[in-house]
Amino acid sequence: MNILVLNSGSSSQKAAVYNAADSLGDDPQEPAWQGKIEWEGMHAQIDVRNEADTRLSEQVSAGSRQEATAQLLDSIWRGAAAILRGPSEIAIAGHRVVNGGREFREPAVITPEVKAAIERMAVLAPLHNRAELDGIEMVARKCGAVPQVAVFDTAFHARMPDAAAIYPGPYEWAEQGIRRFGFHGINHEYCAQRAARMLGKDLASLRLITCHLGNGCSLAAIRDGHSVDTTMGFTPVEGLMMGTRSGSVDPGILTHLMRRKNLSGEQIDETLNKKSGLLGISGLSGDMREIVAAMKQGNARARLAFEIFAHRLRSGIGAMAAVLGGVDALIFSAGIGENSAEVRARACETLDFLGVRLDATKNVRPALDADISGDGSPVRVLVIRAQEDWAIARECWRLTAKSRSRAI
Ligand code: ADP
Repeated sequence: MNILVLNSGSSSQKAAVYNAADSLGDDPQEPAWQGKIEWEGMHAQIDVRNEADTRLSEQVSAGSRQEATAQLLDSIWRGAAAILRGPSEIAIAGHRVVNGGREFREPAVITPEVKAAIERMAVLAPLHNRAELDGIEMVARKCGAVPQVAVFDTAFHARMPDAAAIYPGPYEWAEQGIRRFGFHGINHEYCAQRAARMLGKDLASLRLITCHLGNGCSLAAIRDGHSVDTTMGFTPVEGLMMGTRSGSVDPGILTHLMRRKNLSGEQIDETLNKKSGLLGISGLSGDMREIVAAMKQGNARARLAFEIFAHRLRSGIGAMAAVLGGVDALIFSAGIGENSAEVRARACETLDFLGVRLDATKNVRPALDADISGDGSPVRVLVIRAQEDWAIARECWRLTAKSRSRAI
């Protein structure tokens, strides 16, 4: 059975095909095919790779998002990297949907009603939910009546207690649906389940802090297998410092800028999302690799960017530990979390009082997934590779398993 996964970003589109013979087990598997489009200015870069390691790389004029996505999907069944005879060999398609609001606590088979709900939520995540709806249309056009499933980035946080989820503004905000949703839930949940298996413990017995540190960054405090707090909120701008997003800043700064500099809502949005974070402080890049390299060459603003990032990460971990009342494992994941020994070391430097001790040698080059805690560290420190696409494929498989068994 072939499962197609679409993962739409604001400036990228990823896709993967997983082959599930009988079942998708607990351990992640490599996709049979994977592809990615990245839009940069006037161009779209398409990269495709299949399980035989045949790779295709093509730059096309940016055109419409749909055209490029259609071209990407066609390469699953056409050309040198094709792995299927045609779109009819796709059995299910799964989509990462960034904002499911309060309506979705679980993945959902896409029906006209579910699509309408995703559309309503697009007001909150316009760049994402629109791209995801386009992806759903595209699959319907290419693959006909194939069942499609939406897996929501917010669902894992949907049971957060009100004390963590409701902003202390006027109560009307909560009534209007302005509350903390949290994001990156697909990976936070996957990391929690994976950590429990790595530690040989029951997930329900663990207090975990998961650090998703990619271009976007967020933490989750997980108890009994549920998110009880997280750093992102109503939008993905809240919380930690990120590549180009500020994370939390005093809202008074924004009203000051609106009054004194006549900044519009759009301009503030652009500043907080695209011109802040590592990029905003360093003036160089939102990419942690470039920040660390420049810092090592003595660039003072790159050092400052790194120091702010580490400081906010540590204080966020401390806050999550306080919410949980202690920690059994601290988990690093996504691009920075998996690859930056500097960030992990710096984040853990002051956490000895919580029982967090790193093994310096294991931290430098962990073979993923890995336990990098020092001997006798009361808190286990794990590095877990983000496997969002596989986690989505697994949800698709699970959600449709019942109807398959009824059909048999
Ligand atoms: P996305 O959130 O877009 O999926 P990723 O999870 O790929 O992003 O993370 C991107 C971030 O990971 C970038 O800041 C990049 O610099 C960082 N990263 C990737 N490799 C390394 C590395 N070897 N060292 C430090 N940072 C890295």
